[in-house]
Amino acid sequence: MANHMQTGRKLVQTTPGVAATDGDGVKMTRIIGSPELNMLDPFLLLDAFESDQPDDYIGGFPSHPHRGFETVTYLLAGRMRHRDSAGNEGVIEPGGVQWMTAGKGIIHSEMPEQDNGLLMGFQLWVNLPASAKMTEPAYQEFSPASVPLERRQNGTLVRVISGMTSQGTRGPVENNFVNPTYMDIALPAGEEFEQEVVTSDNAFIFVIEGNLLVGSNGQPLGHRELGILGEGDHITVTSENSARFLLVAGQPLSEPVARGGPFVMNTKTEIMQAFSDYQNGRF
Ligand code: FE
Repeated sequence: MANHMQTGRKLVQTTPGVAATDGDGVKMTRIIGSPELNMLDPFLLLDAFESDQPDDYIGGFPSHPHRGFETVTYLLAGRMRHRDSAGNEGVIEPGGVQWMTAGKGIIHSEMPEQDNGLLMGFQLWVNLPASAKMTEPAYQEFSPASVPLERRQNGTLVRVISGMTSQGTRGPVENNFVNPTYMDIALPAGEEFEQEVVTSDNAFIFVIEGNLLVGSNGQPLGHRELGILGEGDHITVTSENSARFLLVAGQPLSEPVARGGPFVMNTKTEIMQAFSDYQNGRF
């Protein structure tokens, strides 16, 4: 281990999330934004959806507004078409990512571009600082081919959406609000992955496949569990069998959070203003 790395992060809390339904009847697991884990500053919500039953997803997410934060959609299987009131439209494919800054207001829809087969992916909500909640809406989309894939000698594959790996692979998403790290890591059986994580960041791992041993003390983290990482400047993860997981980190904002459905602001008054602005066509 390099000398400049001092303290390995350890698991401090795990959660499997809760079954939830959102949009027009889409079944999912809500992992952040649940009664058990309300938020992990700056992350407000993490939904995982995975089903090969069309009834679980066919309704999609018809037109709805957002204000005050960012939505990040990352697909592992299937296709989704998105449209928004800023004139953006496209299809997200497996390995592709859409990072939308709702800012002062956007109306968008996300609908499955398929009638059958597996649809699998994640939506993460990343909070904006008070100073940027009313920024102009913005939008970054990256095709699967434009998300860098780092191949390591031991067979590890790291897809880098945001942030930089210890080997220097940098993700395409630009975000100076919370300087996020978002990586999708596939580990062969028995291999180790190590990554620096900024000491002041909050960070979590979500296990997509297999089982992991996390931290210097090798605490187990199971299939489809989220693990919050405690203090430190790096994380070490070992796979028991072949495994795949997300590593996500970001700078906490430490500001008041007021939620109102699709709006996340700092005060209740600002939430009421958001509803009023939306109802009066000011988005
Ligand atoms: Fe949305």
